[in-house]
Amino acid sequence: MSRSAHPAGPRHADVLPEGHYTAPAADLNVLDPKVWAQTVTRTASGSVSVGGIDVATLAEEFGTPAYFVDETDFRARARAWRTAFGHDADVFYAGKAFLSRAVVRWLDEEGLNLDVCSGGELTTALSAGMPAERIAFHGNNKSVEEITKAIEVGVGRIVLDSFQEIVRVAHIAQSLGKRQRVQIRVTVGVEAHTHEFIATAHEDQKFGIALADGQAAEAVRRALTLDGLELIGIHSHIGSQIFDMAGFEVAARRVVSLLAQVRDEHGVELPEIDLGGGLGIAYTSDDDPREPHEIAKALGEIVTRECEAAKLRTPRISVEPGRAIVGPTAFTLYEVGTVKPLEGLRTYVSVDGGMSDNIRTALYDAEYSVALVSRTSDAEPMLVRVVGKHCESGDIVVKDAFLPSDLAPGDLIAVPATGAYCRSMASNYNHALRPPVVAVRDGEARVIVRRETEEDLLRLDVG
Ligand SMILES: *Cc1c(COP(=O)(O)O)cnc(C)c1O
Repeated sequence: MSRSAHPAGPRHADVLPEGHYTAPAADLNVLDPKVWAQTVTRTASGSVSVGGIDVATLAEEFGTPAYFVDETDFRARARAWRTAFGHDADVFYAGKAFLSRAVVRWLDEEGLNLDVCSGGELTTALSAGMPAERIAFHGNNKSVEEITKAIEVGVGRIVLDSFQEIVRVAHIAQSLGKRQRVQIRVTVGVEAHTHEFIATAHEDQKFGIALADGQAAEAVRRALTLDGLELIGIHSHIGSQIFDMAGFEVAARRVVSLLAQVRDEHGVELPEIDLGGGLGIAYTSDDDPREPHEIAKALGEIVTRECEAAKLRTPRISVEPGRAIVGPTAFTLYEVGTVKPLEGLRTYVSVDGGMSDNIRTALYDAEYSVALVSRTSDAEPMLVRVVGKHCESGDIVVKDAFLPSDLAPGDLIAVPATGAYCRSMASNYNHALRPPVVAVRDGEARVIVRRETEEDLLRLDVG
């Protein structure tokens, strides 16, 4: 397993240690179902299709680069989470992973709730008809305007992130003549990324209120005294791309002990706990994510056990998967522009997008897979680095992968598992036009977010 644990910072002209990448797959034409969306398959002609439509047809109709979302897969994953958590728990899709009005409708139809963390996400959710009471509002520095709007429209909960925000939200709610349902976000001293987690007393990060030193208990005390607030529970989110449940276990134990403390001090049993998101997905064949029903079972058991030990009624649990729902359902389709072999090193494959449509490789050292999708090939594998067209040597989409050595300009290649944090983090760097998102289902493809145009760029530039 070569994944590095979420290091920060850009990478420049690095030289990989020997053996950093795994050997090529036995047959580069085979698509690993772990990393590709459910309906992606290689057709008899050798090209790849999604939702029954060939990628060449999609490229011709929608252009490249473009993101293609397998709607069948998205709905199936959303439903699997919903079913796994049943009626005693709530699933909030984390909108920041990817949000559009079509996605909001899918979530609504599949019975999921929605997390937003900005006025823009809230507006998108409401404009697609998501009932406000099924929306949770997050963020460490919500503006007065955002808080006011959230309370006015009646969001189901606001997750309070600081002492100042407790007072701010209470004041705004009261001046609107409302009592807002809120949770308090606590930092439990667990930092979890991928296969490791660290349990500490303190966490050095901007979110939430520390359990340590009685800070969170003090926050609860204050929230309980304010008329504008109805405190319904405690919230914890421990990290991202996590495979190991041990971090959630420590977090749940610490949150439950706060609930017990609140009961002892105030005679109040808070009815809800939210354990956040962060569940990992397969970006490469090396990753082995858990199924929603395993996660639901594990979290349910942890919370029940801890509550029994503390003689507390088991609170209603909520979770907030973003990546685990949308991540695996999409791929980015690119056209190869140049193929540049560097003797003794690797071959650089330049595509028509790059860090403007996928910043995760540059930002987090994220790993991705890639495949030739417009045809099959029996040529020998070559070690490649897939790079974009931006004026930046850190503009890497896939750091190390193997593609057939007869790869040529005009071939279509696709990077799977780009549904989360790619379009939502896309930029206009170099005045790139952000790619469209196309939903494909049962032989039909439709644009759900259109491609940006040069007119869009000029519209913002008022001269
Ligand atoms: C980002 C975030 C999530 C979703 O994280 P994923 O890794 O996409 O599952 C859930 N809850 C909160 C509070 C977050 O900030």
